[in-house]
Amino acid sequence: MFSNPMIRADRRWFCCGLATLTATMLMVGCASWVSYPPSPVAFDGVEVLPSSERRHGSQEVSVQFFGTSTLTFFDGSNRWMTDGWFARHTPFQTLFTTLTPNEGQIQDALERLDLDPNDIQAIIPLHAHFDHAMDAPVVAAHTGARLYGDRSIGRLAQAYNAQQIRNSDTPTATATFCDISDKRLIEVGDFRIHFLDTNHIPFPCPIEAAIGEGTTVEPRDQLAGKVWDFEMGTSWTLYVDHPAHQFIVTGTAGLMSGLDAYSDKNIDTLFLSIGAIGRQDDDYLKEFWRSTVETVWPKRVVFIHWDSFTGSTQEPFTGMASILGYSIGQESKASAFLRKKVAGLSHCMEFATLPRIDNVVLTRPEGRNTCVDARP
Ligand SMILES: [Zn+2]
Repeated sequence: MFSNPMIRADRRWFCCGLATLTATMLMVGCASWVSYPPSPVAFDGVEVLPSSERRHGSQEVSVQFFGTSTLTFFDGSNRWMTDGWFARHTPFQTLFTTLTPNEGQIQDALERLDLDPNDIQAIIPLHAHFDHAMDAPVVAAHTGARLYGDRSIGRLAQAYNAQQIRNSDTPTATATFCDISDKRLIEVGDFRIHFLDTNHIPFPCPIEAAIGEGTTVEPRDQLAGKVWDFEMGTSWTLYVDHPAHQFIVTGTAGLMSGLDAYSDKNIDTLFLSIGAIGRQDDDYLKEFWRSTVETVWPKRVVFIHWDSFTGSTQEPFTGMASILGYSIGQESKASAFLRKKVAGLSHCMEFATLPRIDNVVLTRPEGRNTCVDARP
């Protein structure tokens, strides 16, 4: 916790120092300071799931993927969304400017998702970092969906609502926030959504001090902020129980200590965030895989949060940006690790990723659950 103002000042100094160092390196002429490697999951054995029409009254679960871990789920009657993050900033903007939700980008994204106001019941940011939660209060206010989360998400909603009321002479749309810290279960029609408190993937020390685990968004009077103002709060993994499909959604490639409780649930799909795994050492990767895939043994793994969050959403997906050489080679390390794992388990488990925005029906991969028999 960083409630002590001196400590908060220290960590901000750290962040400013990091930003200044980066700026200096830029000014002294570091060439090609940002590059976008190809997708780390574009190889044989990982299929892009096929698109199909979204049908009302179908009683099948379908999903739309916008990028990172923004997913929209629909069962023919009810619709809800993780994250609801549609902004994209360049690496320079992300590091050095105040990050502000862009109403135009949000509106455009909602139209591309064919999502009318009142068409969606819940927005669930998986934690409060900017690439998950920054747009969520705006999306909730625009659509009338309830916004669910912990105190950090609540403070972002408060800030947005205060700025809306302050800047408008007429009644204006605000976000309705529900704190799930105690109950940790909500129902959206037939979707029963359980919240499991899980670890975030570790960051290098100065970044961890600024926005890592145990840090909570401070009260403020506007939603916009610097990247380190979107402190993590609680990181949630969702277990979703629905009559047509049982699935788990992770928002970060952390080591999952609590998925053992779901090892006997016959999970159809595990939506697995893998962003930045290529920066971790071999022991971490081994434990990451064991604590996720080899704990719940799903019938299908769908990789998410592997794509760049600084590229355009109008262009094809690419891998995560490599800035000033930092994390250079991480995508190839991630890819090599995943290739090996996919090759070892593809006889009994399906591996996939999703197209951008198109609707995908989550069929049950029958006959692909024999991995359970292979448990050690
Ligand atoms: Zn995060």
